[in-house]
Amino acid sequence: MDQSTASRTGWLSGTAALVASLVGLFLVLCWRHPGLLTTPELQTVHQAAWFPWLVYASLLIAFVLAMLNLVLRPNKTLGLCAITLTILASLRGSITTGLEVESSQVFFGLDFFVLNVIFTGFLFVPLELLFPKVKDQPLFRFEWREDLFYYLVSSLCVQVLTFLTFGPWQFVLAHTQWTEFRHWVGSQPAWAQFVEIMFLTDLAQYWVHRLFHQVKFLWQFHAVHHSAQSMDWMAGARMHFFEIVILRATTSIPMFTLGFQQGPLQAYLLFLYVHSTFIHANLHWDFNWLGRFFVTPRFHHWHHGIEREAIDVNFAIHFPLFDKLFGTLYLPGRVWPTGYGIGGHPVPKGYWQQFLYPFRKRS
Ligand SMILES: [Zn+2]
Ligand SMILES: [Zn+2]
Repeated sequence: MDQSTASRTGWLSGTAALVASLVGLFLVLCWRHPGLLTTPELQTVHQAAWFPWLVYASLLIAFVLAMLNLVLRPNKTLGLCAITLTILASLRGSITTGLEVESSQVFFGLDFFVLNVIFTGFLFVPLELLFPKVKDQPLFRFEWREDLFYYLVSSLCVQVLTFLTFGPWQFVLAHTQWTEFRHWVGSQPAWAQFVEIMFLTDLAQYWVHRLFHQVKFLWQFHAVHHSAQSMDWMAGARMHFFEIVILRATTSIPMFTLGFQQGPLQAYLLFLYVHSTFIHANLHWDFNWLGRFFVTPRFHHWHHGIEREAIDVNFAIHFPLFDKLFGTLYLPGRVWPTGYGIGGHPVPKGYWQQFLYPFRKRS
């Protein structure tokens, strides 16, 4: 696409995004405040089963078009206005819907994406500005659009991903009879269950992650995660769709089959999300002695390092102990990697190119 076609397409998509986001906002307001904007006769329409779908569809379209505008057009006013309106509409729409939705209903995770990015961004952007590792790294650094798109895809597919990763642990549950053991596990104090979930999940994660590095076929998928050349709060989101499915399907087996209670499980899932974002973040914190017991940004940055010594080391995501036990620890005193990515940068740019990358024939 040449420059002027890109700009024209960007203008068109930006205008269309603005219209779609206004429609979305209007529909959300009608939906949430039935008496406010429309006549009582139209109230039955809001209660129709397809109405939430219409709301989600218009917001989704607005979002995709706005993204297109941001990518294609140097002047990003239209796209930014459309995104702001979409975010406002999604937030208003999600206050109750996100919680009401039953797991049997498939819904788009647009509100989930928006909350995800807002929550994580609010938490990490100020920290990265105040305590950066790479000081001159801008907020919108190299390939930020790609990584934001990874966020979008995994949020939009949150239901599909959850569904796809159900199988293995449900199979284990259905074929085991450890009632007494599970009861004992669930009767422990919540903090003990939390620590156990963390420990067992990291142990499973260590080996699955190591396999992704050592089995050539699996490495083609995991290479996408390692293709990031800048580290920050968005970099961890870059992960091939199939890797997410395999990783979650396997590492969730201990947490869902041993009898842990909902409370510690949910607390751990939130913690896992924040911790895995944290260890990718552009933060210079080292935590001195604590860093030997707990995975810090420096520990995981070495996992992504471009240096020779950084290849196939530091697989754990919570406890460096596992790398120490299994002989893969690399944490030189106070030193950080000089760059990130894979030598020669073999992975192509862009989400869809990276999606296809593992399936491409290599000469
Ligand atoms: Zn890795
Ligand atoms: Zn990583």
